[in-house]
Amino acid sequence: MSQKLRFSLMLLLTPLWLLAQVKLAENGQALAEIVLPAESPWLLHYAAEELQTHLQKLSGAEFSLVEKSSGKLPIYLGEKAALEAGLSIDGLPGDGFLISVTKNAIHIAGRDNPSRNPLGFFHLFYDETKRGTLLGVYKFLEKFGILWVAPHYTHIPQQATLLLPESQERISPSFAHRRGVTGWDFMSVFPDAKEYCQTVNDIYKWALHLRFSNRSMAGGAHSQHYLKLKNVWQDYPERFMMSSDGIRNFDYLCWTDPAVTEFWIKAAEAYFSGLGPEAAGLKGLKPYLNSKWPYPFFSEDEFMVEPHDESGSTDGRCRCPRCNAFREQHPCPDDSEIIWQVVVAVAEKIKEKFPGKFIATTVYPPKMEMPKTVKIPDNVRVCICTSGPKEVATPNRLESDLELIRNWEGLVGAANLPIRAYQCMVFARRLPGPPETHPHLTDVYLRKIKPLAAGMFLEMHSLTFTYHWMDTYILARLMWDQNLSVDDELKAFFAAAYGPAAEPARELFARFEENWVKLWRQNYPDVRRDGPAALGMGGGKGSFQDFQKNTWREVYHPQEMQAIDERIQKIESLCAGHPVYSKHARLLREQIFNVMQMERSEVMDKEERRSKIRLEMLNIPMPEGSFPSESAWDGAVAQPLRAASRLKPQLQAGGSFKVLRSGEKLFVKADFEEPLLSGSKTKKGRQIGDKNIWQDNDTELFIYAPATNTFWQFVINDEGKWAANCLENRPGQWKAYPGVEISCRATPGGWQMLASIPLAGFGKGEWRFNLTRCRMVEGTAPEYSTWSELTMRGNWHEPDNYGTIVFKD
Ligand SMILES: [Zn+2]
Repeated sequence: MSQKLRFSLMLLLTPLWLLAQVKLAENGQALAEIVLPAESPWLLHYAAEELQTHLQKLSGAEFSLVEKSSGKLPIYLGEKAALEAGLSIDGLPGDGFLISVTKNAIHIAGRDNPSRNPLGFFHLFYDETKRGTLLGVYKFLEKFGILWVAPHYTHIPQQATLLLPESQERISPSFAHRRGVTGWDFMSVFPDAKEYCQTVNDIYKWALHLRFSNRSMAGGAHSQHYLKLKNVWQDYPERFMMSSDGIRNFDYLCWTDPAVTEFWIKAAEAYFSGLGPEAAGLKGLKPYLNSKWPYPFFSEDEFMVEPHDESGSTDGRCRCPRCNAFREQHPCPDDSEIIWQVVVAVAEKIKEKFPGKFIATTVYPPKMEMPKTVKIPDNVRVCICTSGPKEVATPNRLESDLELIRNWEGLVGAANLPIRAYQCMVFARRLPGPPETHPHLTDVYLRKIKPLAAGMFLEMHSLTFTYHWMDTYILARLMWDQNLSVDDELKAFFAAAYGPAAEPARELFARFEENWVKLWRQNYPDVRRDGPAALGMGGGKGSFQDFQKNTWREVYHPQEMQAIDERIQKIESLCAGHPVYSKHARLLREQIFNVMQMERSEVMDKEERRSKIRLEMLNIPMPEGSFPSESAWDGAVAQPLRAASRLKPQLQAGGSFKVLRSGEKLFVKADFEEPLLSGSKTKKGRQIGDKNIWQDNDTELFIYAPATNTFWQFVINDEGKWAANCLENRPGQWKAYPGVEISCRATPGGWQMLASIPLAGFGKGEWRFNLTRCRMVEGTAPEYSTWSELTMRGNWHEPDNYGTIVFKD
């Protein structure tokens, strides 16, 4: 900038800047006070406390909370005070608010739930539609540089003098629908949850700080399933799906039956009239939270009409003559045309009787196509499930997704089109370990969908929260305000979270993002998709096992792992001594790098490790039909069990077992510690062969012969009831296994299992073996343990993880 230009800019700006400043505190003394009458709603009291606490932390000044102005600069909260000052919140969308700063008064106001009782943070996060002032307070505090970095850590830049320019702002989010943080199950899902939150309320509070939206838009799915129609329509089999073999399946509906349409209309009308499900003829449904209806019927404005999820055994499509005839008349690759007829019929009725209310539904099998035989009224919200931001790395695939979104936007309009996307290749352990972090892809994606959709629910799954902490923060910031620069946001985040190590930490995550793009492109050829959306993960090259191997071989190879290790070492040394930054550095190592190492090793070093896991089995002479004596057992080595979760390596209740062989029989004696045996969750009255025994407090034996692909699982509960599962063709088939004798008994402090199993059914060649335990007792979380150290929850049935039996005479 030339000197002349700089000078003229100063002339232009300085006087305005001087005139417009409002002072809230000076040299650690408060010049303002928060004014709130005692009879105000609870939400405003909570907002006032939040404001007071943070202003004090910012400036060191004591801000009073008063009922009436005492002459200091008053800060008013809520619509009532705003109206008295001639400020209106009319026209602001949900979660919008106004902030007015003048020399005489400050106002922060949005729509607020008028309740004077505490609302609870679960409710505020998930369901409250009127919480504008609280969100306004959080935005107001950001004006002083506050950043809501993490649930456990807010960045508060101290300043003894608090200054703000005069302003009048009406602020609303860029997207109405802004979701992406794990809620109610946060504490149990993430092994590092306690590093971030003391209780689950801390995650709700963080989400409110970051102004994620509630779940009021197309929040539920598979709504039909929750209405349990099979309980009330026993006399009407024709209303249910007819399978191709002519048999009715009571989990699914016949969507061309007029009674089905009538039912949905009646149900939606009852719902919006404030009546319970009985008014629609339903019975025995458990109300969800404040709703009279079961989950997922909880939104004030929406009722979801949606078929039950298809399962592996059926496509959920009715083959009755009427449905077949409809299909012939209106050809469609799936049942979109059939089901949309019903959705539209319900929506038209609701539009007429309950203006302002919505019918929600999703683009999900068997309803993936765009309907051509009906015109969708403007009170229908459609949730599209797509792969989401990661597709930005593959432009042709992205274009297929965008085209689909554009087409739907044309049918229902952007405001009625929330997107559900997935940042979760780790889900079901498809690709565990490599960080799925890509803030820049998310930024581009949000810009692409801005004109097309109401926003996004980015469903995130990761092995630890540390993996997607930053992505969650950035997602919230960008969905709230599209004008932010992702690079500025990243700089600010890393500076606040890692202090002196901000730059190496930013570079580390940039490297993770670059690597993500590399591995994604390696496995997902960038080819345009024809037809409807894939639900996210479709289109990969090989199996997920190949994906994992390629990732660890080609992208996160040993040199790359070493480079990451070195970068984290640098971050650790720069952060040393600072309580918050060094904690964050430690989390990078413990909750990302070490987890990556373990996952990498599981894929790459497994066979070598497996070959060292051996179970020596003595062959003892013994009369046919008898069981080994105590002294015979004394000669066998006790094999201890270990935790089947790497992230919780300490077992609460241990156990061990011994094996012996005599002739053509395998003998197993297992002893399990169990201080809570009286609270066993074993279902009483089970019979041998019950295929649900795995749900009990149980132990399981696995024997696999690779040469003959013979694979048996024996599931044994603490009462000695058992079932055998033949796993040759998984998911397996429950079958009789003749000649097995099993008994269990309580022991001091635990229980014991004795088994005698004929070897004849085990196949030929090498035998692989594992013994596991699922501890299911009241008063503590389920605990899984295993003999083979390679077996972890999630790979229970993979014989690549079992040890090898070695016979000894
Ligand atoms: Zn039918």
